[in-house]
Amino acid sequence: YSQNFHRILDQRKTLPVWQHKEEILDALRKNQVLVLVGETGSGKTTQIPQFVLEMMTMTVAETTPGDDKRRKKMMVGCTQPRRVAAMSVSQRVAEEMDVTLGEEVGYTIRFEDKSGPKTVLNYLTDGMLLREATADPLLRSYSAIILDEAHERTVATDILFGLLKRVLRSRPDLKLVVMSATLEAEKFQGYFGGKAPLIKVPGRLHDVEVLYTEESQRDYVESAIQTVVQVHMCEGPGDVLLFLTGEEEIEDACRNIAKEIGNLGGQVGPATIIPLYSTLPPALQQKVFEPAPGRTRKIVVSTNIAETSLTIDGIVYVVDPGFVKRKVYDPRVGAESLQVTPISKASAEQRKGRAGRTAPGKCYRLYTEKSFDKDLQSQTDPEIVRSNLGTTFLTMKKLGIDDLVHFDYMDPPAPKTLERALEMLYYLGAMDDEGNLTKLGRIMSEFPLDPQTAKALIVSPEFNCSNEILSICAMLSVPNCFVRPPKGEARRKAAADEARARFAHIEGDHLTLLNIYHAFKLNNEDPSWCHENFINYKAMKSADNVRQQLARIMSRCSLRMCSTEFGSRDYYVNIRKAILAGCFMQVAHLERSTGRYLTVRDNQAVHLHPSTCLDHNPQWVVYNECVVTSRSFIRTTTDIRGEWLVDIAPHFYEMENFPECEAKRVLKTLYKNRR
Ligand code: ADP
Ligand code: MG
Repeated sequence: YSQNFHRILDQRKTLPVWQHKEEILDALRKNQVLVLVGETGSGKTTQIPQFVLEMMTMTVAETTPGDDKRRKKMMVGCTQPRRVAAMSVSQRVAEEMDVTLGEEVGYTIRFEDKSGPKTVLNYLTDGMLLREATADPLLRSYSAIILDEAHERTVATDILFGLLKRVLRSRPDLKLVVMSATLEAEKFQGYFGGKAPLIKVPGRLHDVEVLYTEESQRDYVESAIQTVVQVHMCEGPGDVLLFLTGEEEIEDACRNIAKEIGNLGGQVGPATIIPLYSTLPPALQQKVFEPAPGRTRKIVVSTNIAETSLTIDGIVYVVDPGFVKRKVYDPRVGAESLQVTPISKASAEQRKGRAGRTAPGKCYRLYTEKSFDKDLQSQTDPEIVRSNLGTTFLTMKKLGIDDLVHFDYMDPPAPKTLERALEMLYYLGAMDDEGNLTKLGRIMSEFPLDPQTAKALIVSPEFNCSNEILSICAMLSVPNCFVRPPKGEARRKAAADEARARFAHIEGDHLTLLNIYHAFKLNNEDPSWCHENFINYKAMKSADNVRQQLARIMSRCSLRMCSTEFGSRDYYVNIRKAILAGCFMQVAHLERSTGRYLTVRDNQAVHLHPSTCLDHNPQWVVYNECVVTSRSFIRTTTDIRGEWLVDIAPHFYEMENFPECEAKRVLKTLYKNRR
């Protein structure tokens, strides 16, 4: 072992979970399920899987010496709700074990598998473990499963709970550890009939002083920036962690903090400002763990990911504006969107805890104490009660869970939500009248895409454009491919807008994405071409990679690769029709008098997102998603024709419970004319 190994080992041994190692392993030897609660940073994610691996290796060596076949089944799997956590933690653990990432220790996230035949410890997203279960229902490649961050209560983790409860009965040899950062753990224990022991690992928390604002803040981002600058000016040594809600907000805030500190000139020392969010390239993500150059103060501006998923050492000051971006689903209208919403009390307490890991700290809450007491919910609702369950239901069906309504949910979704998801799969043709998966439904579940996008791809050969829809699907599955220069840089911003206009297809954003993909390939995937055209090279490479993976699944499902002749009048028409064939439930109709759009499905008022390339207001648009900020926007929109709706999705558009509205009247006329 290298010197580094021993240095890290000494560090590891100081983590609180090490004091409970024997207690934990002993409990796991005697029981099939163990619930472990530990303060964030106590070493759960990095250490427990290694302990379990060590124990499983010893057990196997004792019972079946020299049996290599048996040895292969020893894998320990540790789930993470967040991709970044799976990547970052596996890298750390590989270093701790002195091995190369991708060999003994690996990770698996959607569209990226960094595990191999040698892998004995794999960190994977909860969604990926669910997918693995569709091919291997008893999870035979694992000897132990660790459900980490169970308090996050993602849909995938919740389904895994139900699934594992069943698997544990058929596999007495399988061990399960449920790990969580909050005391809600009694609920997990109860779910397994109270038989699972509960072990609590106390953290080594120092006191954290909480400071509230006197009044509620009008602009939380501005207020956060001022607070961070104040802390940097007036407070003693220690790093700062600011929680914001998303990539754009974080990048803007980082720039503004740097500018403000710069303006102070020599009055304050320099600071190192580090953004942290899930779409950040892994090499940059790793930066938050490194000490700041020249022992300057580190200011980390992060999404919720730093709340419990990743532990950053050295934080003394936490700035908490009290907001988080999360999925919100309204089953009455059937729309799922990402919204900035107030955090829960439990979240606020977690955030505060981040300040007291290494020394006494301070937590600045940018809301009033009264607001904390009165306005914040005590816990966040589990995701399952605020999600569109379409994709999840496809997976569950494929797992052989026939009765989706009476599944053993820890918290069952609202009846309306269940109904909506079943209805969607039925209209997409994925489920029949009896609620069984159809052949189409089975093919849909092969693709790591939402059901609508999967359907567009599967039917695209019928529209003679599978090559193009494949590229569009790949582009839709990566984050924004446009590079946006910051607000201040007017000249570069103009150049970026100009570049963007060159790719714009006036009939829609889906077609614009296709143009960009084609241009990228025509220019031999050249990074400098991307740079000149304000295109995100990394995003494009990852889209290209996703495209290859989807193409392999298509070939496995015998779906034909084809294109309409470029330049023919039908080239774009066919593409637009194929998109509609999957996304016919996401259509909006222009209300001439107001200029806004109304969704056809539920008559909700929405607006074209400012990023759209459409240069006009089409009468009908198909959209990829709904984002709600100050108002509801539909993003990635393409011009379609009402007549196509009548042809492509008559069963949906004839449905009776569709609201009475102008769009419906227009459609009725179109139907009549057709007859
Ligand atoms: P928990 O899961 O209980 O919150 P972790 O196992 O994630 O705790 O973290 C334990 C320790 O490992 C922390 O001190 C953290 O800073 C350190 N650590 C985790 N990931 C990394 C990394 N990628 N690089 C350096 N240190 C890390
Ligand atoms: Mg953890």
